[in-house]
Amino acid sequence: MSDRGFNYIKGRLCCDGVPVSNIAEKYGTPCYLYSSATLLDRLSDFQRAFAAHSPLICFSVKSLANLSILKLLAGKGCGFDVVSGGELYRVLRAGGDASKTVFAGVGKTAGEIEFALHHNVHMFNVESAGEMRLIAKLAAEKGCIADVAIRINPDIDAKTHKKTTTGRKENKFGIGLSKALEVASETTDMPSVNLCGLHVHLGSPIYSPDPYREGLKTLAGFVEKLRGKRIKITTINLGGGYCMSYTGEKVPPPESYAEALDPELNELKINLILEPGRHIAAPAGVLLARVIYRKENDDGKKFVIIDGAMNDLLRPALYGAFHRIWPAESRDKMPGVMKPGDDAAEGSDFEKVDIVGPVCESCDCMAKERPLPRVGEGDLLAIFDAGAYGYTMSSNYNGRTRAAEVLVCDQKPLLVGRRETYQDLVAREDLTKTA
Ligand SMILES: *Cc1c(COP(=O)(O)O)cnc(C)c1O
Repeated sequence: MSDRGFNYIKGRLCCDGVPVSNIAEKYGTPCYLYSSATLLDRLSDFQRAFAAHSPLICFSVKSLANLSILKLLAGKGCGFDVVSGGELYRVLRAGGDASKTVFAGVGKTAGEIEFALHHNVHMFNVESAGEMRLIAKLAAEKGCIADVAIRINPDIDAKTHKKTTTGRKENKFGIGLSKALEVASETTDMPSVNLCGLHVHLGSPIYSPDPYREGLKTLAGFVEKLRGKRIKITTINLGGGYCMSYTGEKVPPPESYAEALDPELNELKINLILEPGRHIAAPAGVLLARVIYRKENDDGKKFVIIDGAMNDLLRPALYGAFHRIWPAESRDKMPGVMKPGDDAAEGSDFEKVDIVGPVCESCDCMAKERPLPRVGEGDLLAIFDAGAYGYTMSSNYNGRTRAAEVLVCDQKPLLVGRRETYQDLVAREDLTKTA
């Protein structure tokens, strides 16, 4: 059994070979635990799959933004995809390279654009005519030329959750093709912007290479069209959304995306940018939480109440997302595949429970009617595939302090984000300003 990543070894869940129960003991719960081996393996697999096209891989910072992790990835040549000045600040603080950082987002403010120009980011992914004009103005004032890509909204249905699809025309993201042509034409009168790229990000997770292929074809057609207007596009950015398996089922590996895109990319001979987030980060993290209580309602429905909640991991409450959950120490083997509605409890001594957090919202529920070996108070549970959009979406709702973050490197657990304290909760408020 490999000790890279999360594996049960003799009934104990280990992270890169270290029993997670030791880590929970030392750093407390709830606790995000990351495997550096998984992060690096996922990144290098991805890099290898697309190697023929020497892409710039820009890891999506919004999926997982801890400084130590950004530093780890930067050390492997990774660039970054940021969607705010704050994320760019994180990249810089982590020693990431601004010249390998792309900046997306529909609402970049003047302050954010100035910050990004100052640090010379690789490219702005521009999402409206107004933004293009503002970048041109600010770059002119600064006396520099901003490299920009237009984020195209290709109106492609990537078959994701309705809250995470971004490439349909009714979504706020990107610019439709005919408007994009107008915006592109306008740039020919903007000496302070260099329109050299086209960008799409279709949503996530995307479980088939087809939407990417469709997106690439759309962009390729548009590259031609712009050439007619003497605008030379040298970079195509296909965004993120590459899937990972939340259920343990087989999903397309990076190679299948690469293979599907190969013919078009070979023909285009263009610089390629890819922005994976969850594909790399999700399987590299678990949320560890302890059972505080069990209770049963009058109808015999069972609740397992844990110390991790929707403020720690919002995805189940926000998207109805499915995460595998299993005791960190168990004689029962975790099923290889676990899906919503699975009935593993039938004919076994598993019980069906709702796994809920302490937050005062009914949607604070990590799993409903989930078959689980019987767990008792104090038992440790692992919520899997929580590395992406886990900690980055956490909040202080209900006066809860944010969890600790631990990264295992070379079999050593490192506290890379300390647990918040009550003092942290009030540190930015000023009681001397009381009315
Ligand atoms: C969120 C986002 C990504 C990453 O999406 P994943 O599903 O995590 O791969 C990439 N690019 C842009 C522009 C994004 O907004």
